[in-house]
Amino acid sequence: CGITAYTGKGEALPFLIQGLEKLEYRGYDSAGITLVDEKELVTIKAKGPLAVLKEKLECGTFDQHTGIGHTRWATHGIPSNLNSHPHTNAAETISIVHNGIIENYQSIKEGLDMQGYAFASQTDSEVIVHLLDYYYQGDMKAALRKVMGYLEGSYALCVVTVDDPETIYVAKKESPMILGMDGSAAFCASDIPALIAYTKDMITLEDNQMAVLKPDSIEIFDAQGQIVEPKRIHIPYDLEA
Ligand code: GLU
Repeated sequence: CGITAYTGKGEALPFLIQGLEKLEYRGYDSAGITLVDEKELVTIKAKGPLAVLKEKLECGTFDQHTGIGHTRWATHGIPSNLNSHPHTNAAETISIVHNGIIENYQSIKEGLDMQGYAFASQTDSEVIVHLLDYYYQGDMKAALRKVMGYLEGSYALCVVTVDDPETIYVAKKESPMILGMDGSAAFCASDIPALIAYTKDMITLEDNQMAVLKPDSIEIFDAQGQIVEPKRIHIPYDLEA
């Protein structure tokens, strides 16, 4: 029920975890992250409180500069390690986190089944990553726009790919998503508290918009793929506490 994402000069993991902690108030039953570099995607997830995920993370060192994080409130599929987000394609070259409900996931799944896609989880969300895999031909923005055209329901969505290790692709419909930058990184999250320690000047993503985050830029696109002016908000200082 919460999303965080970071791409920048700093390490992604501390940002992702502090953000997920700030979003705990939204409620959740599991948590997970994918970290990205030019070699691979590293995905670690766990049922239970963030403490369980943090314990798993203590077994390694993670200095990647790009990543996505998720806390899940299960709607389709029981809380479990496998049903936790992020979800990846079979080749583990694309990873997604999703908040919301994909109403037409059954019919999408049937189509993907016929194309030979195997599903690792019982979630509605997993169809998104396989559909991206199906349409991806080197341009993730184009693939995401195509996939958004098929999804019915609600989503706040972040996508990363090993092919493009410093970029985060974001999409939104009927679930919140806030974006920001601090001079050395671009980031996004489901709600303001996850970003407030980093910036007070934020961008709210509107329904059916897509965002492309790179360490030094944020671009917003409408459903037709045309670049649009970001909707900016300023958070007054006294909201910080
Ligand atoms: N519907 C998705 C699931 O059950 C996402 C739930 C959420 O928003 O956390 O996995």
